[in-house]
Amino acid sequence: MKKLKIEGVESIPSGHRDKDKSDRATTEQVLDPNTRRILFKMINSGIVSEVNGTISTGKEANVYHGLAASEDDSSPDVHVAIKVYKTSILVFKDREKYVTGEFRFRKGFNKSDNRAMVKLWAEKEMRNLKRIHSVGIPSPEPLYLRRHVLGMTFIGDSRGKAAPRLKDVEFMDENPVARWRSVYLDVLAYMRIMLQQCKLVHADLSEYNILFHKNKPFIIDVSQSVEGDHPRSLDFLRMDIKNVNDFFRRQGVLVLSDRSTFNFITR
Ligand code: ATP
Ligand code: MN
Repeated sequence: MKKLKIEGVESIPSGHRDKDKSDRATTEQVLDPNTRRILFKMINSGIVSEVNGTISTGKEANVYHGLAASEDDSSPDVHVAIKVYKTSILVFKDREKYVTGEFRFRKGFNKSDNRAMVKLWAEKEMRNLKRIHSVGIPSPEPLYLRRHVLGMTFIGDSRGKAAPRLKDVEFMDENPVARWRSVYLDVLAYMRIMLQQCKLVHADLSEYNILFHKNKPFIIDVSQSVEGDHPRSLDFLRMDIKNVNDFFRRQGVLVLSDRSTFNFITR
């Protein structure tokens, strides 16, 4: 029997069904029997060979590290990141503003249905990642979606160490500001491409949702990203710009004014 090895989480063999438990599960604990079943299915269908380390445990989601058998047997397994969205009620209040105006008119959509809601976010993240990845913005490539569990390419080194978030990066060179400036320009370009080509505003962009890998900023966490025609998309864009400019200014970069940045991205 294959096992899920996740720190501090007892594994339940696949096929083991406990209907009562799964029905009342998923408030705070993310690895409810239902989620475990989905992870086991991923293993049993060969999408991943192993789910082991925890990359991140957060308010809205946990991210796990997994291995997937590579296509040809001679090369090593490839690393994957598996994001499991939480169905906790606390998260939903915050998210409401992104969803309003988009899913309001969706047939059969019930706002109070947490499970349906997280499934929707997972789907949204998958769609948005596809869009930004396909235009060449450095970002994880979505690989697999099953309900509230999203598998994507792992951003990190070949030994399975995840890339740092921008907030944790420290340049040790002679001229760190020059390095930061170059990262800043990349981020501005990606924001512009994201809007102009993908028709998306990230809506939670900051040094927390950008990873630094292979000398490039990688954009992650796009489940709340909104279409350019969302009623509040430009408010969200202004927020993103402020976060980005504030962060790079703190690194010593001579940043554009928020207004010039807005014009650069939107025109
Ligand atoms: P929360 O805010 O509750 O922590 P979140 O919705 O912000 O969750 P993400 O930002 O998508 O979730 O991921 C959380 C963390 O997991 C990231 O900050 C990053 O460190 C790591 N991570 C996410 N995706 C990947 C990936 N594809 N490769 C490597 N690390 C990743
Ligand atoms: Mn995040």
